[in-house]
Amino acid sequence: MHIKSAEFVMSNSEVEKCPKSRLPEYAFIGRSNVGKSSLINMLTSRKSLAKTSGRPGKTQLINHFLINKNWHLVDLPGYGYARVSKSSKKVFQKFITNYFGQREQLVTAFVLVDIRHTPQPVDSDFMIWLGENGIPFSIIFTKADKLRPKAIQDHVDAYKAILLETWEEMPNYFITSSSKDIGKDEVLDYIDDLNEN
Ligand code: GDP
Repeated sequence: MHIKSAEFVMSNSEVEKCPKSRLPEYAFIGRSNVGKSSLINMLTSRKSLAKTSGRPGKTQLINHFLINKNWHLVDLPGYGYARVSKSSKKVFQKFITNYFGQREQLVTAFVLVDIRHTPQPVDSDFMIWLGENGIPFSIIFTKADKLRPKAIQDHVDAYKAILLETWEEMPNYFITSSSKDIGKDEVLDYIDDLNEN
């Protein structure tokens, strides 16, 4: 897919206020600092469409971007920021449950995972929650430039082992690096295929 246009539409703190349009949407979510803004900027070939985070975990906004005038890319807040209080974790959970529960336009979620780390429960628990709630998702491994291919494969295999305890198949996954422009076409072509079906 060639990105001809990418425009910021709106930021919302409430799911109810998100765009009413029925355009298909694709949500990007992951731990704070996982490289989500960088990935969105790589995918859209825009330097600063998504703001790379200065203060992770501070703002919990749903950001809608209109791509090629025919689908929405949704930037969801980062989760698992160590320094947030228990009460704000609860608010976040509610917020995310609302988003995934209410957005019928959502085609699939992309859960971003930093490839450098072995599987973290906060990520695998979130994927299992998505699965249990029937929300389709793919995994996007980020920062692949930081590891050698063997280590990348080991970390992917470790995720497979955890997820295959719950499911028969590993969800779709992508290996990406925003600094080296890796994985862009694969993710965009996947979205393109889903849009056409
Ligand atoms: P966000 O908080 O998930 O939106 O993450 P950002 O996009 O702001 O990135 C967090 C940090 O990771 C920044 O210092 C980025 O420069 C760095 N980063 C993001 N993507 C990559 C990548 O593909 N490779 C490397 N080496 N660093 C990255």
